Amino acid sequence: MAETKQSKAPVKKAAATTESKLAKLGLRTDMDLVLHLPMRYEDETEVIAIREACLRGGQTSQVEGVVTKNEIAYKPRRQLIVYIADETGELMLRFMNFYGSQVKQLSEGTRVRARGELKHGFFGAEMVHPAYKVVNEGAPLPTSLTPVYHSGEGLSQHVLRRAIADAMKRVDWTDTLPPALVQQMQLHPFEPAVKLLHYPPQQIDEHALAERSHPAWVRMKFDELLAQQLSLKRAQAARRQKGAAPLRAVGALSAAFQAALPFQLTKAQQRVLDEIRADLREAHPMQRLLQGDVGSGKTVVAALAAAQAIDSGYQAALMAPTEILAEQHFKKIAAWMEPLGVQVAWLTGSLKKKDKAAAAALAESGEAKLVIGTHALIQDTVQFSKLGLVIVDEQHRFGVGQRLTLRNKGADGLVPHQLMMSATPIPRTLAMTYYADLEVSVIDELPPGRTPIVTRVIDQNRRDEVIERVHAAALDGRQVYWVCPLIEESEALQLQTATETYETLAAALPDLVVGLVHGRLKPAEKQEVMDAFAAGHVHVLVATTVIEVGVDVPNASLMVIEHAERFGLSQLHQLRGRVGRGSAASVCLLMYQSPLGPVAKQRLMTMRETTDGFEIARRDLEIRGPGEFLGARQSGQAMLRFADLETDGWLVDQARDVAHALLHDPAGRPVVEAHLERWLGGREEFLKV
Ligand code: ADP
Ligand code: MG
Repeated sequence: MAETKQSKAPVKKAAATTESKLAKLGLRTDMDLVLHLPMRYEDETEVIAIREACLRGGQTSQVEGVVTKNEIAYKPRRQLIVYIADETGELMLRFMNFYGSQVKQLSEGTRVRARGELKHGFFGAEMVHPAYKVVNEGAPLPTSLTPVYHSGEGLSQHVLRRAIADAMKRVDWTDTLPPALVQQMQLHPFEPAVKLLHYPPQQIDEHALAERSHPAWVRMKFDELLAQQLSLKRAQAARRQKGAAPLRAVGALSAAFQAALPFQLTKAQQRVLDEIRADLREAHPMQRLLQGDVGSGKTVVAALAAAQAIDSGYQAALMAPTEILAEQHFKKIAAWMEPLGVQVAWLTGSLKKKDKAAAAALAESGEAKLVIGTHALIQDTVQFSKLGLVIVDEQHRFGVGQRLTLRNKGADGLVPHQLMMSATPIPRTLAMTYYADLEVSVIDELPPGRTPIVTRVIDQNRRDEVIERVHAAALDGRQVYWVCPLIEESEALQLQTATETYETLAAALPDLVVGLVHGRLKPAEKQEVMDAFAAGHVHVLVATTVIEVGVDVPNASLMVIEHAERFGLSQLHQLRGRVGRGSAASVCLLMYQSPLGPVAKQRLMTMRETTDGFEIARRDLEIRGPGEFLGARQSGQAMLRFADLETDGWLVDQARDVAHALLHDPAGRPVVEAHLERWLGGREEFLKV
């Protein structure tokens, strides 16, 4: 509340720096400022008598009085002590950090309005570091609550408030929605809603305001969700306008490939494959997410989609987020495809320059029908001769921009079909808001013959027993993953722990072969260890979370996770998914360090109770909330500012229906334009992926 002093810098420069500070917050236009709504409010509408404030105690209140005494005290530390008094009593204001100018400003006889938490200290009633303002007698009180905005470095509330108030005088307040719609949806009109949120009247329902359930908030959330839905649907329409090569042939390769598989597709696999096959035949690009729990068999479906592209005379590319995962795909798919005469190229960042160039040349000449790799695939230097299908595994691990680049590599100016895969189930409201235009296929069945994984939660102090179990399992011909404790703060420490774990286990199990794999190994070294493990030459594989995604060694049937309490739910689920892939009964031992916090306890209980990825995702959402689900990188500019997907799911449905209606009514066109302009400005590009 303390007034900032007028800057002595030239006005022009001050304006320029304020502008750049506002821009840092994403506030570029007047409408940006107007839609920068308060985080919370301060109630400065009321001044109460000092005596009453003292009686209330412990609460935040605003009082007004005249300075009776002003001194700098040095005990217990340097501080400014100011006494103010009104007709009813006296109050001490205490400032630990203060400027010389404040000492002068608060000289005796000055009238001050102070707002803060009132406490009864050793010297009587006091406020420590109150917000204060020097006023004249009878200065009017604000009639509305004072907004507090999210701000950035060097940008005071005062400056921000003024910028917003000025912008509010300039913007065009026309409601973007037609009055009939506003009425039909029982929405608060735009202008009064925004004004109310910036300057709520004193008597407002503060609870509804704070909870953001007030109709004015609902209007903002609705508008925001509507803009998102409109934009996503328009992007979808635009994509449909673009051509894609129809991949019509499910021919010789597809048939031979399916015949050569050592197993039959599950019903669920066959169903999603049919969905994908139908999409690929279309002349507009497929945009499909293939969801399936860990171990549900997504890879073979992806390979069959690739076979259709190849059968139709096109290339396919498969991109995975890590080298290990990409390499696994490569090994597996190449072993399936190469005997059928298909050349598969391998392309990652860690390849020697020469090998990379060779792989890129194979992609460019079209000799390689299938190219598998990491994000190295999307580098500018890699060109495809006739790319018809792009497959992205663990798609949520890639940024929006990365996926966009691969889409631009299609043949003849066409957009390649896109198949994205994820083992992380996305809750429905999220899927609808972030992927309004995405078709979703779900593999909701595991291949037969899998015995469910038994999960046990064990105190870390029983480590010796666990090592005994590992020994017994290995002697029984089974293989074991031993996952090292996660040390997020330090990669060096993580590495050291992994090495030490490896050494102690190797010493404790002298008759077994123990291997070690971690993120710092060179890809070739990593591969060597993984190969030895896959071939059964290593009994116990000590690993960091590098094995989290996609590693597939069916004979591994025991997993030990140390300090399981440090991992997140979805991470534990992904890790556990490395076992239970063969026919042997599998066990996952979650070791924890007691005492367990409530959240960690809840997570471990969940792991013990269920192996269903969808259920785990649901509980994860409950524990963490959706914000973290996709990560900021994923959502990019599409991140919702006002709507909360957990509580506002009903609004998502409404926004979707209204978006649909507006887009299918010729008269809705100007409405759509105006609404998108207001809410997204020029930021639509990000939603188009
Ligand atoms: P994920 O969905 O986690 O990527 P994978 O594609 O790696 O799963 O498949 C897990 C394992 O199941 C692999 O070893 C794969 O060969 C095997 N598999 C896939 N489909 C079937 C099936 N229909 N019957 C038996 N085994 C299958
Ligand atoms: Mg997989």
